[in-house]
Amino acid sequence: MSFADLGLEPKLLDAIAAAGYETPTPIQKEAIPPALENRDVLGIAQTGTGKTASFTLPMIQRLGRGRAKARMPRSLVLAPTRELAAQVAENFEKYGANHKLSMALLIGGVSFGDQDAKLTRGVDVLVATPGRLLDHFERGRLLLTGIEVMVVDEADRMLDMGFIPDIERIFKLTPMTRQTLFFSATMPPEIQRITDQFLHNPVRVEVAKPATAADTISQRIVRMPIKDDRTKRAALRQLLTHKDVRNGIIFCNRKSTVDVIAKSLQKHGFNARPIHGDLAQAFRTETLDKFRSGEVQFLVASDVAARGLDIPNVSHVFNYDVPIHADDYVHRIGRTGRAGKKGAAMMLVTPADSKFYAAILKTTGAEEIEALDFSAFFEEHAAGGGHRRPSRDKADDSRSRPRRQPRKAEEQKPEPSKPEAANETPKVVADREPPAPRRRRTNPTKPSKQRESAEPVIGMGDHVPDFITRAVAS
Ligand code: AMP
Repeated sequence: MSFADLGLEPKLLDAIAAAGYETPTPIQKEAIPPALENRDVLGIAQTGTGKTASFTLPMIQRLGRGRAKARMPRSLVLAPTRELAAQVAENFEKYGANHKLSMALLIGGVSFGDQDAKLTRGVDVLVATPGRLLDHFERGRLLLTGIEVMVVDEADRMLDMGFIPDIERIFKLTPMTRQTLFFSATMPPEIQRITDQFLHNPVRVEVAKPATAADTISQRIVRMPIKDDRTKRAALRQLLTHKDVRNGIIFCNRKSTVDVIAKSLQKHGFNARPIHGDLAQAFRTETLDKFRSGEVQFLVASDVAARGLDIPNVSHVFNYDVPIHADDYVHRIGRTGRAGKKGAAMMLVTPADSKFYAAILKTTGAEEIEALDFSAFFEEHAAGGGHRRPSRDKADDSRSRPRRQPRKAEEQKPEPSKPEAANETPKVVADREPPAPRRRRTNPTKPSKQRESAEPVIGMGDHVPDFITRAVAS
């Protein structure tokens, strides 16, 4: 089956040919024909399946007829993160090269003024994150009553990020007559409820089981004997230096860990940069561009920042942390092995991760993931066992000590004066990334073994000298 068989018009076929695509992917085959008939579509598909084109192509064809009015966009695509929204916008530019459609991208970190000027002129396509869209709406800059087609992309991610109430509200601001194209990798009950409520007799298209890791990805783990950050960082470096590693994305569970790992890798001479939701948008965009172009070899990332990003040619994904949600594992490793290319995923697993690791095995249907032989490494690095480690690890000393207090904000910023992130001191901006889990405070009145052994005592510490408790003679 060819793209022409799907009912797409010649101008679009030219743009598709220019993009170098020869045959439609399964989701494109199944979703494009009903979408061209203005039917609602419920697509259950992961990124990497070609789903973006499956909604942008029919939208462009439909929007080719008619004109935009000021402040009344004709179509709306909602994406959970700025990067994904920007990626969708790029797709519109690529496939819409032969059409004269106007587009605005409403994402955080970009000035309201420019976005507003575009809206005032009138746009055919509005690509937005839910928060920024509602900000514009509340300022009275935008009316959603002219929406002919609405797309919700990565709905399950929206759910994870707490956007579902925003999505419901946005649905209610658009006309009932709209066409809805709705995409999600999984269908948890909350998403099912939304689709039952807002989609009209949709064509359901499911292309791959959400939790199926692509066959093209080889998966390995390293079993860490204990949970020790210093040894984990050393093991990560060992993995990164393997001859097959051309480039890679290193996933961490927390934004603060992303910063620590990126900084540590830079200190050890690796070409790495951090990406997470607290970094300024300009820094994030620049980092992604540099990674795509090969100027940056390693991206140290949080789930939210890297979710769904289409970065071709990623040779390796490293899970520095075992993800807390098994679905995230599938999404993370899906950053490699894209478009039929071979990829590799590696994960450090400590005994403390056993519950999450078991959930990953259950989700992916694997009995076990093959463990790499790291015995020689552990002999050298004997984690936490009082063994000496190689001196090149010294740079990490301060960060590997057990800490009682959360790190100070300024400590978490990327290194301002070292390779790569050298000149950029990223500004911290608000984002909707879920906050890191709170650490339990230690009871200051209880003596702590860890504190005694690892940290200097400040003031008198837990010791109360006798003279203080003695009764004062009157
Ligand atoms: P997506 O799932 O939308 O993130 O797309 C994943 C990747 O597949 C993107 O790099 C697209 O450019 C590419 N792609 C989309 N459709 C096709 C196609 N029919 N043939 C080859 N590559 C495609």
